[in-house]
Amino acid sequence: MYVYEQILKKVGECIESISSDACLADIARIVTTDSDTYILENKDKTNFDFIACKKGCAHCCVVFITVLLPEAVSIAAYLRKEGRAEKLIPLLEERVIETRWTEEQDWSLLGKKCIFLDEGGSCSIYTVRPLLCRAVTSASAEDCHEALASRIMGEEKPILMNLLIKKTYEQSFHALADAMKNNGMDSAGLELTRAVLCALKNKDLAERLKKGEKIRPC
Ligand code: SF4
Repeated sequence: MYVYEQILKKVGECIESISSDACLADIARIVTTDSDTYILENKDKTNFDFIACKKGCAHCCVVFITVLLPEAVSIAAYLRKEGRAEKLIPLLEERVIETRWTEEQDWSLLGKKCIFLDEGGSCSIYTVRPLLCRAVTSASAEDCHEALASRIMGEEKPILMNLLIKKTYEQSFHALADAMKNNGMDSAGLELTRAVLCALKNKDLAERLKKGEKIRPC
């Protein structure tokens, strides 16, 4: 649980003094950087050679992705900086309407690729992608393809993943959620599209979170 405790402590101290949405984005960056560092420091304890994930392979980018608000704020800040925010807002709104009645477990049945996947099959927000996207690796693209097809048929097939990577990012996600909760903030996980749209349309999320307000986007 080392990475969980480390992030819980560090983020807990930062969260106490947040004053703006920029601070929320900084917190998401700290969590990601510390998780990456932890994986690098422990790389001798695992084997990365079998990981088959590569640019352009995006079998996994059709599932429901859960994010915490600081992650969504960080993605929104990146999109604004890249000058892509205005163009994306109507597309995000459209996707939110299309998926309004879709349950989390049925998300992949829609066959909709993640809105942040570019035409070449690469993640267009790669540097700020969600923690739970980072957690996923696979030993075989074919296994991912089959697992997705099985899911559509109502069957769950396991995928061989790198456990160090999976556990590190999942623990980081929970540490961030718990740090928020310990500071009286809404720590609910939100669907990626809705959360980013909310962060693009609002610039007072830190203030509202500090007041204990529940943020329920769209
Ligand atoms: S955010 Fe990026 S990595 Fe995550 S599902 Fe979307 S395209 Fe894939």
